Amino acid sequence: MTTNVTGRIFDIQRFSLHDGPGIRTTVFMKGCPLHCIWCHNPESISPHPAVSFVPEKCIGCGYCFRVCPNGGHRMDPEKGHVRDRERCEACGLCTRECYSGALELVGRDATVEEVLGEVLRDTPFYETSGGGMTLSGGEPLQQTEFTEALLSAAKKAGLHCCVDTSGHAQWDSFERVIPFVDLFLYDYKQTDPDLHRKYTGASNELILANLRKLHQRGATVRLRCPIIPGLNDHEEHFAGIAALARELPGLEGVQIMPYNRLGESKLERLGLDATGRPHPPTPDEDTVNSWVTRLKRHGVSVLN
Ligand code: SF4
Ligand code: SF4
Repeated sequence: MTTNVTGRIFDIQRFSLHDGPGIRTTVFMKGCPLHCIWCHNPESISPHPAVSFVPEKCIGCGYCFRVCPNGGHRMDPEKGHVRDRERCEACGLCTRECYSGALELVGRDATVEEVLGEVLRDTPFYETSGGGMTLSGGEPLQQTEFTEALLSAAKKAGLHCCVDTSGHAQWDSFERVIPFVDLFLYDYKQTDPDLHRKYTGASNELILANLRKLHQRGATVRLRCPIIPGLNDHEEHFAGIAALARELPGLEGVQIMPYNRLGESKLERLGLDATGRPHPPTPDEDTVNSWVTRLKRHGVSVLN
């Protein structure tokens, strides 16, 4: 397996504690086939790079106005610094000139060798904590060649490997990575197929079919269930999660992923349309505990 295969990533997060066992490095990949209306990583959905702008950090130095070949930035006497996103080709020139950190390029191409080199820096922490590398996104299986090559190289280096997946991918992509994955973190968002389509843009049929095939193949799978107040915290969905857990007794368990509001500010920074996005409050500890209790009453092994 070659290590010069290139993939498109948008972040490498060291010391992750919530993406599998132990201390991990999570590689976030660009591109997702779903567009969940509550997505907390909306920068991952498009496969293309984009520029994020935080006006509060802008010191008005004007470097970005001067370097942009397309007139993507201008100073408005009333509004201050205005970005013209229609003109932006995400070349990244302005982000390199912005020393205050107001501008950031989200999305870059990197080879397996480069990414693995960064991941391996924390090997001592993986060894003492039982951690390793997690591929997340976005949907890692949307870049199958890169994902397979990176996982294969990581396994060769002795790393524990997790893949955080929406499950919405061709089965062939799963087939290719199964030999290198110690644990799949598998999203299950909505039991009712029509509501699933309404909230994510696609039915859950393919996701369920892949989950059943993974189970048949003996893969280790942890079901991760994002729970969004007012959208999928209803009894039918909890009963659906429980029914799935009974049907697939080999599951490692179910993990509740409570809604967080991070995605709202990210959308603003990227200038993306937030129409239709719900704004539920961040669930407090009591609410999360009540969800855990409800699932446990159904006999589900909850990992929270
Ligand atoms: S380069 Fe950065 S700090 Fe300077 S004007 Fe542009 S956004 Fe603001
Ligand atoms: S990323 Fe390139 S095209 Fe876009 S605003 Fe910056 S300099 Fe202009």
